[in-house]
Amino acid sequence: MSRSDKTINLDNDLRRHLLFGSVGLVIVVLIVFVNVTLHLAKDLGEAVESDHLLEQAQKISILIQDVIDSDKLESINNQELIQESFIKHINFFNEDIVKLNIWLNGKIFTVKNDKSFDHIAEINAAMQKKKSNHGFIKLNTNRFFWVYKYTPNECCELLLLRKVSTLDRAIKYVSTRLTISAFLTFWLAVWAALIISALITKRFIKGNIRLNFLANHDMLTQLHNRTYLHDVINNYIDQQNLYASKHYSEINKAAILLIDLNKFKEVNDTMGHHIGDRLLQALAERLSKLIDDNTYVFRYGGDEFIIWQENTDANNAEILAESVIKICRQPLLIKSSKFEMSASIGIASYPEDAQTLNDLLKSADIAMYRAKRLRLGYQSYKKCLDLRSPLRVNLSGQLNHALINDQFVLYYQPKVNLHNGKIFGVEALIRWQHPTEGLLAPGMFINLIEQSDFVHEFTRYVIKQAIMQCRAWLDSELTLSVAVNISPYNLMDPELTPFIQKLLSDYQVPASLIEIELTESSTMVAVETTEKVFKQLKSIGVMLSIDDFGTGMSSLAYIKQLKVDYIKIDRSFVINLNTDIKDEAIIMSILLLCQKLNREVIIEGVETNEQREKLISLGCKFAQGYYFYKPMPAKEITMELLNLKSD
Ligand code: C2E
Ligand code: CA
Ligand code: CA
Repeated sequence: MSRSDKTINLDNDLRRHLLFGSVGLVIVVLIVFVNVTLHLAKDLGEAVESDHLLEQAQKISILIQDVIDSDKLESINNQELIQESFIKHINFFNEDIVKLNIWLNGKIFTVKNDKSFDHIAEINAAMQKKKSNHGFIKLNTNRFFWVYKYTPNECCELLLLRKVSTLDRAIKYVSTRLTISAFLTFWLAVWAALIISALITKRFIKGNIRLNFLANHDMLTQLHNRTYLHDVINNYIDQQNLYASKHYSEINKAAILLIDLNKFKEVNDTMGHHIGDRLLQALAERLSKLIDDNTYVFRYGGDEFIIWQENTDANNAEILAESVIKICRQPLLIKSSKFEMSASIGIASYPEDAQTLNDLLKSADIAMYRAKRLRLGYQSYKKCLDLRSPLRVNLSGQLNHALINDQFVLYYQPKVNLHNGKIFGVEALIRWQHPTEGLLAPGMFINLIEQSDFVHEFTRYVIKQAIMQCRAWLDSELTLSVAVNISPYNLMDPELTPFIQKLLSDYQVPASLIEIELTESSTMVAVETTEKVFKQLKSIGVMLSIDDFGTGMSSLAYIKQLKVDYIKIDRSFVINLNTDIKDEAIIMSILLLCQKLNREVIIEGVETNEQREKLISLGCKFAQGYYFYKPMPAKEITMELLNLKSD
């Protein structure tokens, strides 16, 4: 269930609880209210009724006393006559009197005795229990109020009984009104509860939305954050797994693009964090324009952004990466200053490269790292890039064996004169003819070798092969200089120069035909160390080159301090040469610099005729690239050279 679904459910639950809660409260209040009011009405009715009957009893007593005190009765001794004269006087109250006995002239006369009322015993019991001469009694379904007076000194025994009707009427009225008002109150309360619950829920939803936003967004850029990224990608992967297992169908592909800004730290350090923040915001705004139903943009942290594209494939992801690179390159205007950013992007595809979010991130990171290191702009993940991949782990265990068994072979890429296309030398590029994996490019294993114990042994092997090939060419009357790449670690090998010197003399190869290339970005070695080794190499007569010029941090220090013969301009400056004026400017500056310092320039990675023409127009003399020749085995290049020679 997604976050928003959860929130909606939570909101509905809250609304329901609020509604039922308030309606329940109203019902409880109404029950209490009705109960209290009914009791009140009952108590009030009883009080009125009892007061009235007590008063009546008192009046009857006075009337009886009056009759007794009148002289007329003294002479009457007859029961009927006495009964008649009393009834006459108290007729008004007759219907309430159940029992009336009179003491007269020493005799008891029964004035009234209602034989139909046979509950005297109950009244006696109630009287004894309550110790009172009046009270209520329930007979059948009716309630009665009774008053009993037994006063021999007043010559009278009187029992009055009255059906409680005032009370019943009162309760009837009260309950009718109560029912109506309870009903109205209930409806009012329900409406009030509905409105209040809606209002409270609305406020709660607002609060919830805000909280949700805070939880899922990055506050600086307003893009979705890492938490949301986990939700989105894990959800997608779960759905795909479920769908695929249910329908036995293929998983819908997706791709993750890890975008890392180049040199952002420098911007932060030199311009201040507030400018860095503004840059990130401006960039986020541009990136957010890429968002659509299938594409999500997240700020992953610091200067890292992530784009997650669903229902896509590796090709589309690369197209997207190209547009991201363009977006990043467009100058950003901040406080009237222009900033130009660039980014390195690593792409990992789901499910080909990885099947979990964690692995996707790792793969994208590996690819991004390569893109950054080689200034490729973007790089899609390949197994061979991954140092931890089973293939790489396997390879590192087989290096020694490969060296002993001559599995390493040199391919040669011609270096040409740009004007006439003539080959003036070759660069030796190593390949591993692996028994099971096929022909492996150096990107697969060079850094494994550099991290191993036999980096020196390996380079010596390469140099020996190159010198032997040079000898073979010389024997075929082909004079061709051979450039060999060395690793920066080889600079620590004190035997390197003597070893080369011995080989040159053993194979009778002129030192000037061997060229040593050291990549400029190998900044882990101090330029002084390089200078020392280069001096030794120069002293025996070999040629020297700085490779991948312009990619490291200390190009100028290298070119100033190292007495080299060639500067090889990195191919990253050639890729967009025909569209990017800045690359043109850089190449022109390097050419000028090298001219002043007396170094030859070889331009790498020429792939098209347009690039070739442009380079010629800029004044380049030497080049290397797929446009002319790809690296090839010695046999092929020998045939090519012999063919060219015979032409
Ligand atoms: P590098 O010295 O810069 O060699 C040039 C690389 O660019 C080669 O890749 C070559 O095939 C490639 N290349 C040449 N022209 C073009 C082009 O027009 N377009 C493109 N896209 N690529 C082009 P490769 O052979 O894969 O070598 C990669 C790197 O491995 C070399 O870069 C070098 O740094 C290293 N390497 C190769 N052989 C050795 C070696 O024997 N020892 C050491 N230490 N490193 C080596
Ligand atoms: Ca090279
Ligand atoms: Ca190079």
